[in-house]
Amino acid sequence: MNLVFLGPPGVGKGSLAVRIAKDYGLLHISTGEMLRAEISAGTQMGKLAEKYINDGNLMPDSLIIEMLLSKLQCSTAKQGYILDGFPRTLNQARELDKFVQIDAAINLDAPEEVLLKRISHRRICPVCGKGYISYMMSSNLCEQCGVEVTIRDDDKEEVVKARLEAHNKRILPILNYYKETGKLINVDGNDTMDGVAQRVRLILEGLNC
Ligand code: ADP
Repeated sequence: MNLVFLGPPGVGKGSLAVRIAKDYGLLHISTGEMLRAEISAGTQMGKLAEKYINDGNLMPDSLIIEMLLSKLQCSTAKQGYILDGFPRTLNQARELDKFVQIDAAINLDAPEEVLLKRISHRRICPVCGKGYISYMMSSNLCEQCGVEVTIRDDDKEEVVKARLEAHNKRILPILNYYKETGKLINVDGNDTMDGVAQRVRLILEGLNC
């Protein structure tokens, strides 16, 4: 089973992708994580990625598609996968279909005020990068490093509003594309993680692949 997960910042797409991938023995492929790993490793791709990401831009389609396709060729991808953060443009969606069979595009959504509220509670450890939800923490220290957790610069309210607007503009043609190809499945993300995961499991059970 090969899936694409779509959704705005704060909808819980990444955590859900990790969970569903584990439940179904699928490979979780996050292009954002792949790029951050390239940056940490100081590769040529990482140096390019750093520039685009820091300027708040998307990577050029040609580079990201090449990186993703080489990942999809590795043996662990044969068991099926969830793409998280890809496609981000209509061109990426079309290119993907030239090389692989995508069974469904799961689109998670929630009202903007819910997304803004959720993101305002997100915290991250500046040392190890572990993510937290502020009201679920017993102290404001990272349980692994003991340092104070912070808010990601791009999680601040004005920045989040701009990110949501940019996302909405970009996602429409992608949603239309998956609708036309009969692969779009909309899922209400305005629920607990357990509730949303259960909804997605039921959908996947009905997919027959
Ligand atoms: P976010 O922090 O918004 O959830 P990600 O972690 O998925 O984003 O990705 C971080 C950055 O990596 C993006 O803002 C973008 O610059 C780049 N990136 C990731 N995936 C893609 C993609 N499919 N196409 C182009 N750029 C991408």
